Amino acid sequence: EATDDSARTLFERIIAREIPADIVHETDTTLAFRDINPQAATHVLVVPKTRYRTVAELAAADPALLADVVATAAKVAELEGLDNGYRLVFNTGADAGQTVFHVHAHVLGGEQLGHFGR
Ligand code: 5GP
Repeated sequence: EATDDSARTLFERIIAREIPADIVHETDTTLAFRDINPQAATHVLVVPKTRYRTVAELAAADPALLADVVATAAKVAELEGLDNGYRLVFNTGADAGQTVFHVHAHVLGGEQLGHFGR
């Protein structure tokens, strides 16, 4: 099945409260909620409420909104007690396994993480 990256995405439906999610934090411009298939002890997704497909598109179009996403990720780390550090991941495109084309930061932590790679 071809990826349709023009349709309204799952994350827009979560932002609109049409699909339930375990929301961790919200600001005027961002929403943070737990990943349904966690890859670490803590795994939270942070999205801007305005949709851009990738972090590069967001950075080019609205750098202040990208800063809001990063600040919300830091707030999530504080709320979740990730005092020993955390990882921020923006998967971009097919080789990185991006499945939802509404930019999202993965906040991963709560345990010692493995190194990058395959
Ligand atoms: P990507 O692979 O695009 O970087 O990340 C998409 C993430 O969304 C995946 O980690 C996946 O587990 C998560 N996800 C997919 N469907 C849902 C859902 O319905 N609710 C939540 N909370 N997360 C989801």
